Amino acid sequence: MGNVTPLISVEGTEIVSDQRRGKPNVLSKTMVGLENCIRNKLLTGVATSVCQTNIDDLVNDAWVDRLIDLGVMYVWFHTYRPVGPDAEPALALTPEQQRRVRQFVVDTRAEKPIAVIDAYYDHQGQALCPAATGISHHIGPWGDVEPCPIVQFATESVEEKKSLWDLFNGSAFLRDFRKLASHSTRGCIVLERPDLIAELVDKHQARDSTARGTAAEELAEMQPRSSQWDPGHEIPERNRLYRLAKKHWFQDFGAYDDGLPLHQSTARVDVTEMTSDAS
Ligand code: SF4
Repeated sequence: MGNVTPLISVEGTEIVSDQRRGKPNVLSKTMVGLENCIRNKLLTGVATSVCQTNIDDLVNDAWVDRLIDLGVMYVWFHTYRPVGPDAEPALALTPEQQRRVRQFVVDTRAEKPIAVIDAYYDHQGQALCPAATGISHHIGPWGDVEPCPIVQFATESVEEKKSLWDLFNGSAFLRDFRKLASHSTRGCIVLERPDLIAELVDKHQARDSTARGTAAEELAEMQPRSSQWDPGHEIPERNRLYRLAKKHWFQDFGAYDDGLPLHQSTARVDVTEMTSDAS
């Protein structure tokens, strides 16, 4: 299938990989799988959820050079988000470390022959949330249409046999999510304001779309923390191609333009008074 690409997670050294995945020999098996994909000429990428235990080992030129030598076509360094049943807030990056990762991504794009994915910044280095801007939502394994991969609640399903256009635009829950997220922060509403997500879920009586059935409890236990939004520390793209591509195809599409707070994520947003008008 020409439109499928394996994106293989590498979470750190042998020890760190075993800890993060909870099984033995994870890194060596992962590297064998990676080499199998490349040998069979698949367009293959490597993703890392960057956290306290792998930032020094993987966010560096030596690791990227090794992946280039192996034939990996693209990398994705996203930052660890402590959500779910086994959230470990102590592993999350500090704002300084998040800046370091962002700078590394920008520099690697400009200096290395490998593509680098990211989903949280425009061409000027301004943060954005791809779900708030309408660039993406998430479809869970059972067909539930969720705001994003870490907001596992839904009111619609692809089993309804509607087009994705109709599902995304016709859902009052998703519309309210986009509005709430873009009115609250340019960063990640889940990390910064989990309380607002809980109110939204309650307002729409959205169902838990996890197999665990504990998403509401997990959300209630989250403590607000900083996210990719870091006003005053924007790092613009250096690479001309990325700059152009982001400017035209990956930006906020005006989602943050309607005069919203937006300079402090503690601003009060009244979920119950939000309207669900289509926009
Ligand atoms: S809510 Fe947070 S995790 Fe979800 S898409 Fe937006 S920035 Fe990403």
